[in-house]
Formats: sequence, C-alpha cells, structure tokens
Amino acid sequence: MARYQILKKGDPVLRREAKPVREVNKNIKTLMANMAETMYHANGVGLAAPQVGISKRVIVVDIGDGLLSLANPVIVNFEGKQNGPEGCLSVPGVVGNVVRADKIVMTALNENGDEVIINAEGFKARALQHELDHLNGVLFVDKATEIETEQRV
Ligand code: ZN
Repeated sequence: MARYQILKKGDPVLRREAKPVREVNKNIKTLMANMAETMYHANGVGLAAPQVGISKRVIVVDIGDGLLSLANPVIVNFEGKQNGPEGCLSVPGVVGNVVRADKIVMTALNENGDEVIINAEGFKARALQHELDHLNGVLFVDKATEIETEQRV
C-alpha cells in the first residue's frame, strides 16, 4: 500500500466533477486501499479520490465504526436536518458550520464491486455527504457559515 499526497484548496482537480467508475477492478481496489491508508495517516474520517488528484467517483469513510470504501455513491433519500462543525483535509485549519441532512440512504458499489445500501445518520451521514460533495467539485467552505480559521504556527 502507498500513501497519496492530499491536494489543497486551489487545486483545479478539487473543482472538477469526478467520473463514474466503470468497474471495481484491481486498480480501483488499490486506489481504495491507498486512499484509506492516506485518510488514516492524516487522522481524517473521510477522503474522496479528487483530494488525491484522481477524478473518479470513489470515497472512503471511517468515523470509527469501520471502513467504507465506495464507488459511484448516490444518495437516494434525505431526511431531517443537522447543523454542525465540519473540516476538511484539503482545507487545513478551517472549520465551519454546515447544514446537512440528518439521515441519508446511499447506494454504491463496495470494494468487491457489490451493490450496497447504506443507512446513516448523524455524524456518519454528515461525513458521507461531505465526501459526495467532493465528487461534484464542492468544498464544505462553499456551504459553511461561521467559518473560523485556526491559528497555525
Ligand atoms: Zn473534505
């Protein structure tokens, strides 16, 4: 496995709409594994392929309850609202409040290429919505209010 460099806000890849994965083949599995390693190393809870310069619809999320490696994620149902703080590995040192759906249902392909349905709520729903935004070229700072920049020494 290998780690990628995480691109920062300002890089054009982060603003591109990512391309669907045609098939979860060996390359996509390797991408997922390396993205997970990159996310864990950066102490993140989620990472999208555009953040490592690869414009494909692949995300990894682990909020502490197990790793999700997903291709072509689509949110098929939104319910309720939550407003809470968010940050991003591509926008270091910045936090802001973002309104998200409280509960979502997501369909995707897992690392074996099987179709999966994920029911998520609270922070996990937030993380999945944040990562899906990355696939559409959207950063949380586009939606956030009360943005604060932490002092970085
Ligand atoms: Zn992010």
